[in-house]
Amino acid sequence: MTSISQKETYNLLSQMIRINSENPMLVTGSQGEGELARFMGKYMENMGLEVSYQDLGNNRVNAIGVLKGSGGGKTIMLNGHLDTVGIEGMTIDPLEPTLKDGKVFGRGSQDMKGGVAAMVMAVKSLVDAGIKLNGDVIITCVADEEYGSIGTEEIVKEYTADGGIVTEPTDEQIVIAHKGFVWSKITVEGKAAHGSRYEDGVDAIVKMGKVLAGLDELENQILVKKQHPLLGRGSVHASMIQGGSELSVYPSFCQLELERRILPGENLETSQKEIAEILERISHNDPAFKASFETWFERVPLEVDPNEAIVKSISSSYQQMNQQTPQYQGVSFWTDAAILAQAGIPTVIFGPKGKGLHAAVEYVELSSVVNTAEVIARTIMDFCAVSD
Ligand SMILES: [Zn+2]
Repeated sequence: MTSISQKETYNLLSQMIRINSENPMLVTGSQGEGELARFMGKYMENMGLEVSYQDLGNNRVNAIGVLKGSGGGKTIMLNGHLDTVGIEGMTIDPLEPTLKDGKVFGRGSQDMKGGVAAMVMAVKSLVDAGIKLNGDVIITCVADEEYGSIGTEEIVKEYTADGGIVTEPTDEQIVIAHKGFVWSKITVEGKAAHGSRYEDGVDAIVKMGKVLAGLDELENQILVKKQHPLLGRGSVHASMIQGGSELSVYPSFCQLELERRILPGENLETSQKEIAEILERISHNDPAFKASFETWFERVPLEVDPNEAIVKSISSSYQQMNQQTPQYQGVSFWTDAAILAQAGIPTVIFGPKGKGLHAAVEYVELSSVVNTAEVIARTIMDFCAVSD
């Protein structure tokens, strides 16, 4: 069996935390993931992996390390993002990691340099132990998960695999489902008129009130009825609203932006249909109601069949490690796993314990990073098959 050194894991993780990788789309003027990607590439090269890079421009870089198998086995892809949210306002030193009570503090320690360190250490332990695999292992350290996921979108253009693991933090639980989301914009058209001229004006804001009432009905009477066993129900909320120009003027427009969190089986068309129905119902009863909408962004949900080989492999590894059967989980937040699954790579999410993701104090539990690496190492051996 392999053995993963806590000291070596800490060494790697602390070097990763010291390299600032705030996402420049979230923190203007920050340097991007380039330096960290090159560090990861060097590290994987020293492990004996074939390393390549995908340059996404503006110092946004993916680092990919491939451990070639001897052939005839399944290929596994390990995926983790290098970018972090901003460091401003943190009450710990964000870039100088400290180890206290078994916790590693620093920005990105939990989300998700800890998970990236775990997947790299897992592969390193196999290489160091001289274990030969039939299938290939592809480590993808990617940019931009915290904003637009340009990193993983570039990965799936060039690489594929028979199964994937994203090591986002899951408290060492095996996650096989999460929600997706759809963003839309509704515009209600009114007619500007002097505040005293009710016979001329059409009040776009009051009419948008009918749309809001329709969304309330959708949320509380329709969406509550459809439950997913791991994810609960979908939801809709009004995110931003604007309209009107002056106190004594009928508002000529009102614009609402909204987000619909969708379940597996739902998609962009689901949300479009719901909005169209609300608008139609209103115009049916109110001839002066004039509205249009556009749905402009979708992130698909994730749902992996528990019978997929990758789920079975990680489950049996988990069972060996923990002497208990795993309970599959769903999480509410979106991850890059959905992009891999959409590209035909059945993907689970499994990562270490910690706290404070995106918060002022963030840490990951070092022993949990090592456990995660151990489960992943066993999963790779099972999934890719050890050759004689
Ligand atoms: Zn993350």
